[in-house]
Amino acid sequence: ERTEFITYFHHIIDRFEMNIPEHITLERELPKERLYVLIDQDKLTQVLDNIISNAIKYSPEGGKITFNVMKQKYQLVVAVEDQGIGIAYDKLDKIFDRFFRTDKARTRKLGGTGLGLAISKEFVEAHHGKIWAKSKEGKGTTIFFTLPLLGKKRRVKS
Ligand code: ATP
Ligand code: MG
Repeated sequence: ERTEFITYFHHIIDRFEMNIPEHITLERELPKERLYVLIDQDKLTQVLDNIISNAIKYSPEGGKITFNVMKQKYQLVVAVEDQGIGIAYDKLDKIFDRFFRTDKARTRKLGGTGLGLAISKEFVEAHHGKIWAKSKEGKGTTIFFTLPLLGKKRRVKS
């Protein structure tokens, strides 16, 4: 459905904020402007839930999770940045594969099946978006995805 993304995103973050581990802080860098997208809210909520849960789960020492939304010409770029364990450069693409989990994730006994990002990728692509990651081992990770923006609704004079 047609959705104002910033309001929707605030609601998602609010839900996490109510139940966040003490050592984690959330920071929002979201534009004030209204930005409309055409999304399946259930699916996009699964995408964001997984990305945000990962950011929390893979930040065992805590730190800040920053939410950023940037408007490019015809699309939104959403970024979720953490200061967690990070991902080695040669594993960056693999994290979107089914059942892939880094050794670090497995040895830390953090639960998971390795499906979250594979599903996220499938859903983002079904919305004609792209998803990718930047990371530095031991420093943190940022997950980015894009969504096409809807044009402003034009009122037709009658
Ligand atoms: P699931 O989401 O199915 O419960 P999962 O979190 O292990 O399990 P994905 O969400 O698909 O699986 O992530 C795949 C792997 O990518 C993780 O196991 C972890 O190794 C790595 N990863 C994902 N997000 C992060 C992050 N924010 N920081 C560090 N590593 C990450
Ligand atoms: Mg996950």
